[in-house]
Amino acid sequence: MKPTGPIPAAFAGQDRLTIGGEAAEALVARAGDTPLFVYDLGLVAERIALLRRALPQGVGVHYAIKANPHPDLLAGIAPLVDGLDVASGGELARALAVKPAGEISFAGPGKRDDELAVAIAAGATLNAESEGEVVRALAIGERSGIAPRLAVRVNPDFELRGSGMRMGGRASPFGVDAARVPALVRTIRDAGAEWRGFHIFAGSQSLDTAAIVETQAATVALAARLADEAGAVPPLVNLGGGFGIPYFAGDTPVDVAAIGAALGEVLDARPPVLAESGFAIELGRWLVGEAGVYLTHVVDVKDSGGERFVVVDGGLHHQLAASGNFGTVVRRNYPLAIAARMREPATQTASVVGCLCTPLDRLGDRVALPPVAVGDLVALFLAGAYGATASPAAFLGHPPARELVVGGTGSTRGR
Ligand SMILES: *Cc1c(COP(=O)(O)O)cnc(C)c1O
Repeated sequence: MKPTGPIPAAFAGQDRLTIGGEAAEALVARAGDTPLFVYDLGLVAERIALLRRALPQGVGVHYAIKANPHPDLLAGIAPLVDGLDVASGGELARALAVKPAGEISFAGPGKRDDELAVAIAAGATLNAESEGEVVRALAIGERSGIAPRLAVRVNPDFELRGSGMRMGGRASPFGVDAARVPALVRTIRDAGAEWRGFHIFAGSQSLDTAAIVETQAATVALAARLADEAGAVPPLVNLGGGFGIPYFAGDTPVDVAAIGAALGEVLDARPPVLAESGFAIELGRWLVGEAGVYLTHVVDVKDSGGERFVVVDGGLHHQLAASGNFGTVVRRNYPLAIAARMREPATQTASVVGCLCTPLDRLGDRVALPPVAVGDLVALFLAGAYGATASPAAFLGHPPARELVVGGTGSTRGR
């Protein structure tokens, strides 16, 4: 038997799984069938409120939509946050449908000219990833007669410790090396573009509160140094985020109250060059990850080689991360449960496998389960971020997952 990660608090105490106050079986009936992702907007709203209570007054909260760009979810989140961060022309279009362009920033390497042109015409901020991108943006601005709004994404000279995915501190496709940033800021300002400030993102999925605190302090110090060297006050310093969520046995959540308190002290003591600057943090996973549940039906229960296999109608084509094939080195179990028997004692050890014809498609490896029968609903938790859109949906030709947004605003719509 191998351990599973912690079931999020919102669901852990239940006997029969409900999401947004509705039974899992009823949600499946409403959506039509499994496999089904359900996202509880109410839980996302609670998260945002919790974060705002923790953060110093005036620090903006941005949502990085690549974590989950479902249109209904995005429409629900947009009014609750100060900005949306996008990373493609497709995401930009989704963001523009729900948020004014002035509250959207567009990061990501390899922005094509047509993407730059759409962003500039709309008035979204481009988080420039290189000098070359700035040259192209300025040329497009020149041709269209619109001054681009440009922030500089900085490749910081440090990284977020304990981060599942490091994005700073070394050679990187993301951002401009810190040493070259002041010159680029001068280029942008001299060209008559609107300089929007700095974007400094040092890592992702960190559960190390002390490391996040340390990184935020280092980020503010770096922004001050670069601003001094550039001789310009950044209107906005986007401090990144990187807050992780507990996926695996032994993981513990980050302490957002401690992070907010420490950031307050750093900002109170910030260097004069940043006195008039605004600040924001951008989060994806932490805001939406725990609010999503992936529901699948058991199609078969079979024994082989002395082991039991519970075969479900979903798989890694919808929820790649739970199979351990999305940026993890060692495969460990996400939390999962039989929806109708959440707290029944385990009577067996079984592996929960998806319906794809590949050994990679294992959603739970030798987990402890109560009795399971064909037709039962299996719930995989922590499916709100990097699920449906971060999985190879076309692999093996099964249909896409259904997605349903519940809770929060009273509007519940399927797709
Ligand atoms: C992916 C990404 C995020 C979101 O990261 P999470 O770990 O989901 O919070 C934020 N900012 C940038 C620039 C990103 O690329």
